[in-house]
Amino acid sequence: MASTMKDLKLVAASGKRTVVRVDKVKIGEGLALIAGPCSVESEEQTVETAKAVKAAGADMLRGGAFKPRTSPYAFQGLGLKGLKILEKAKEETGLPVVTEITDAKNLQWVCEHADMLQIGARNMQNFALLQEVGKADKPVLLKRGMYSTIEEWLQAAEYILKEGNPDVVLCERGIRTFEKYTRNTLDLSAVPAVQELTHLPVIVDPTHSTGRPSLIPAMSLAAVAGGADGLIIEVHPNPPSALSDAEQQLTFSQFAAVASKARQLHKAMQGLQ
Ligand code: PEP
Ligand code: MN
Repeated sequence: MASTMKDLKLVAASGKRTVVRVDKVKIGEGLALIAGPCSVESEEQTVETAKAVKAAGADMLRGGAFKPRTSPYAFQGLGLKGLKILEKAKEETGLPVVTEITDAKNLQWVCEHADMLQIGARNMQNFALLQEVGKADKPVLLKRGMYSTIEEWLQAAEYILKEGNPDVVLCERGIRTFEKYTRNTLDLSAVPAVQELTHLPVIVDPTHSTGRPSLIPAMSLAAVAGGADGLIIEVHPNPPSALSDAEQQLTFSQFAAVASKARQLHKAMQGLQ
């Protein structure tokens, strides 16, 4: 299997699993829970969400300040103002922050205000951007492109490592198939697949893959059972009013229930023989 994967010199499995440190959080050791709104909309919304997900046991806060939207008329994010709000939310809760970078021209800003750089599905093969985050001194969360094979995804990770940044976490977030009921098709087999092919940690996004809150609890647990190193889940104080991805975000109490079950399952799995 591994021999069919081309040019994976630096990401290829080495016998030792990499643990990526994001501030005080270690991804690849235990179960990392990352949660927060799709978009940073206001200080109140972001800080309130950060406090709620922290209370529910999250390790890190997510939130988009630069939003890659399908429509140019859709909310594009608060930009620098959003980054400053994320920093404020970290000050209030201690949760390290991951946020998407869509353009290398914002690299300095994002590095100043966030702890981890997210490369979104739509930019997974933006090779110039991959090279720039590869030169940065921040860990990278590399989402799988919705049209990308596992091999292409790992080659994208290779671009980042080749520039000298060893701290890459992979994120399976669903791929496009003929199925329409779900937003995308969560490829859970990609989790053990990349664990046999690479030494990098891999987490799962049950939110963008399903697009449906009713499916997120089951897919979160399935990801943990399948060996994922973490989950990244969208949470909003009032999902229907969200400025992006309103139909798929969890409420605070829904997230608290998922987080608790995911932790219990992860713990129970330590005892499996
Ligand atoms: C997001 O995390 O809000 C996002 C846009 O995800 P993806 O790149 O996986 O679509
Ligand atoms: Mn989203």
